[in-house]
Amino acid sequence: MSEKICTVGIDLGGTNIVFGLVTPEGELLDHFSHPTGGEHGPAAVIRNILQGVEQSLENAGDYRVNGIGLGSPGVINTETGVVLQCAPNIPHWTGQQLRTPIARRFGLPTWVDNDAKCAVMGEAIFGAGAGKQHMLVVTLGTGIGGGVVIGGRIHRGGFHVAGEIGHAVVQKEGRRCACGLEGHLESYASAKGITGQVIEELAKGRSSSLSGVETDKLTAKMVVEAAREGDRLAAAVIENAGHYLGLALCNVAMVLDPEIIIVSGGIALAGPVLFDHIQAAYDRYLYYTDVRKAPVVPAKLEFEAGMVGAAAMAMLELELELRAEGR
Ligand SMILES: [Zn+2]
Repeated sequence: MSEKICTVGIDLGGTNIVFGLVTPEGELLDHFSHPTGGEHGPAAVIRNILQGVEQSLENAGDYRVNGIGLGSPGVINTETGVVLQCAPNIPHWTGQQLRTPIARRFGLPTWVDNDAKCAVMGEAIFGAGAGKQHMLVVTLGTGIGGGVVIGGRIHRGGFHVAGEIGHAVVQKEGRRCACGLEGHLESYASAKGITGQVIEELAKGRSSSLSGVETDKLTAKMVVEAAREGDRLAAAVIENAGHYLGLALCNVAMVLDPEIIIVSGGIALAGPVLFDHIQAAYDRYLYYTDVRKAPVVPAKLEFEAGMVGAAAMAMLELELELRAEGR
């Protein structure tokens, strides 16, 4: 009888930690979440991670667990497993050693990486990118993140900040981005960029079905909904977001020559109201279209991308058995 194996994948977020058991084929055997507990300090977060892994190992049943992958916010030194720099979503997380406590406690090969990179690899290996080697994954959220996969591996770049397509310049003297610079893609096509443009236009007195909404209650989803229902202001803002996205994706495609471009994140669920505009701009600017056939597609994975990706990263980077090899 062939041995059944799986890998523990952990997605550490500011609020919750998601744990899962992932097979080499990407099947999710089990998952659960636990509060991060960051307000009680880094030691409490580590304790919660260890407790969750212990639970996962119990849940594995007759599967052999071959390793552990953890995706954490911040810049991670993947050689040492230390957090080099972290935004304040987990207090005092910078400088934290993540790999040693896990590897030591369970005696299993352990890989620690940035959470966004893990989500990119989850989508690349087990989502819309399955079977492809070269791709770009763009994540539309409050901001815009992403990652580049070359030859089946995440491209980290010279300074560990590759794939930051959100800060690609798409407009001369354009809108101010959250990073402080101007004309970046994120300031037009992120959730914040979309609501920001609507609020600016409403302040100028433009009429819209969104006029009555308090500005701090306005979400990108509401703008998408209004655009679908034919609101002209909302439709113009979503068209603008789609146009700039298509343009930025086209520029990246010219340089990287990906096989596929995957758009993930909450706004990616908008469907044709956004994607038609992304596609129109992409088709309008792309060159070598006779040979270049990289489609722009929505992501397939949802909440599980980070966790499944953390397990995938461990399988890849630790060269654990990625395929059961027919045994
Ligand atoms: Zn920026």
